[in-house]
Amino acid sequence: MTNKIYEYKADKDWYLAQFGDGFGPMFQRFEPKDEDRGDSFWNDYISLREALRNQMLLPDLFVARISSFAKLVSFVIGLVNERENREVQLLNRSGALLLVEKDQLLFVHLPEGGVLTNSFFGGELKETLLIATRNEGKTREFRAIFEKLGYKVENLNDYPDLPEVAETGTTFEENARLKAETISQLTGKMVLADDSGLQVDILGGLPGVWSARFAGTDATDDENNAKLLHELAMVFEQKDRAAHFHTTLVVASPDRESLVVEADWPGYIAFQPKGDNGFGYDPLFLVGETGHTSAELSLEEKNKQSHRALAVAKLVEEFPRWQSKQS
Ligand code: IMP
Repeated sequence: MTNKIYEYKADKDWYLAQFGDGFGPMFQRFEPKDEDRGDSFWNDYISLREALRNQMLLPDLFVARISSFAKLVSFVIGLVNERENREVQLLNRSGALLLVEKDQLLFVHLPEGGVLTNSFFGGELKETLLIATRNEGKTREFRAIFEKLGYKVENLNDYPDLPEVAETGTTFEENARLKAETISQLTGKMVLADDSGLQVDILGGLPGVWSARFAGTDATDDENNAKLLHELAMVFEQKDRAAHFHTTLVVASPDRESLVVEADWPGYIAFQPKGDNGFGYDPLFLVGETGHTSAELSLEEKNKQSHRALAVAKLVEEFPRWQSKQS
């Protein structure tokens, strides 16, 4: 029984194909006549042929003349699709040839010298991590960490039209989730949000999520510190003035369970402010048993041990696992 012969014939291309009887896929008698074709033409041909062989049973092929692989491969793929009831497509993306079937990328063939990543991916190659803050200092710290992990780091100043997310939660996690998850939903991006504050044991964890506005909306650091000293005026023993700074970090991505990490930095509330560095409650926060406030530490010293530093260290440890676990 003779098998059907398929033919494609045009000005510069003429191919004949026939499916064999189980001798395996092969291209036969491929003898390009065009002398202009150099090594890259042959390299392209060989790698495409191998990729196709791995994906489908190829017909035997007689090529009388050829001007482009794309045409030859389209011809072969068309035959295979018809014969095997498949839906393989050959796509050309910025010079790269892609074999795609339904939603599955089967093979990518790059031309010599590669292609520009931006044109290939239709935008940025790197995934973006959006930090839910307008504070450039905070962004700088996170950028230093996440750029090393291959992310492009942005902050809310890159999205001036986004609405403010009100911190209406009663826990650090609620607030950090609220910011990260809302902004992730609105932008479709992966978003990192943090929420920090001071918690004083004898005040039942206050000022807590109200740290920035303990003395009222728009309160200054000095006003908040004065209010804290006032609240503790009748607590005379340092041991009874135990406190810690706390940070919760949340990374949210659309359609994923968020990653949450948290850390504490323990100490005591001093009887009077000391030190000129830092911000917020630093002049009142005695670090552990050192007798020094965090406002007496250099930024470098603080960044080695603070609640934020500890939380970020945990995040760096857990983030790759979370990323790879999620679909
Ligand atoms: P945020 O969530 O990082 O904006 O912190 C909220 C508030 O907690 C700040 O406005 C400060 O009052 C306080 N706070 C958080 N971290 C620190 C710190 O490292 N030192 C002093 N105060 C802090």
